[in-house]
Amino acid sequence: MDLASRLADVDARIADAARAAGRDASDITRIVVTKFHPVSLVRELYSLGVRDVGENRLQELAEKVEDAHDLDDLGWHFIGQAQTNKVRLLAGVAARVQLTVHSLDRTRLVDALDRGLHDADGNPPARRVDALLQINLTDDAGRGGVDPGELEGLAEHVARTASLRVRGVMAVAPLDESPASAFERLAEYAQRVRAVVPDATWISAGMTGDFVEAIAAGATHLRIGSAITGPRPERG
Ligand SMILES: *Cc1c(COP(=O)(O)O)cnc(C)c1O
Repeated sequence: MDLASRLADVDARIADAARAAGRDASDITRIVVTKFHPVSLVRELYSLGVRDVGENRLQELAEKVEDAHDLDDLGWHFIGQAQTNKVRLLAGVAARVQLTVHSLDRTRLVDALDRGLHDADGNPPARRVDALLQINLTDDAGRGGVDPGELEGLAEHVARTASLRVRGVMAVAPLDESPASAFERLAEYAQRVRAVVPDATWISAGMTGDFVEAIAAGATHLRIGSAITGPRPERG
């Protein structure tokens, strides 16, 4: 199958899963994860109608945004772990394009990004940057994501910034648990965030292997890579 057929096939599976869950597929944003692929793939996807792409490395995101700045209605999603000392790159991207940050998971990162998003005179951006709180669904504290016990505190912290808008939650299903039960827990955590920030209704969950389960559990944003792009090139 070529790129157009794979995209159409995934979209048909999304529509089926939404129907089966009694949901409207138009409430679901399908983000195509283009990490490790060249920017030419982003352009091909754009020509096929894709308007949301995801990247998980900051440097790569910044380079692709630079190369594809003419695609001015393309939304970019940062889905990777950000090092606090590199958030200037992310702030630079936010100043250029429509950006959603899926991976806020600690107050130090939030504070660094908030500072980076303010201009030299200390003014916040005209429009807050959409942000999701990444939750760690595993027992391994070394994995990305906030511990669920610290979720409300992080939500309050982000909500107090002048530059970031809490839109919801994001997670990756653990390898040692069924995606359905992991995403059920995620839906509960999403509800806890909504108790703090009532309009934080987004749930970013679901990848190539588990987007059907994510849709059943209420995901609003799917991050799908290889099912659409084909295998990723190796990247060290
Ligand atoms: C790479 C990646 C994806 C997409 O993975 P596929 O299995 O190729 O669909 C989704 N989310 C995150 C955080 C990723 O890093």
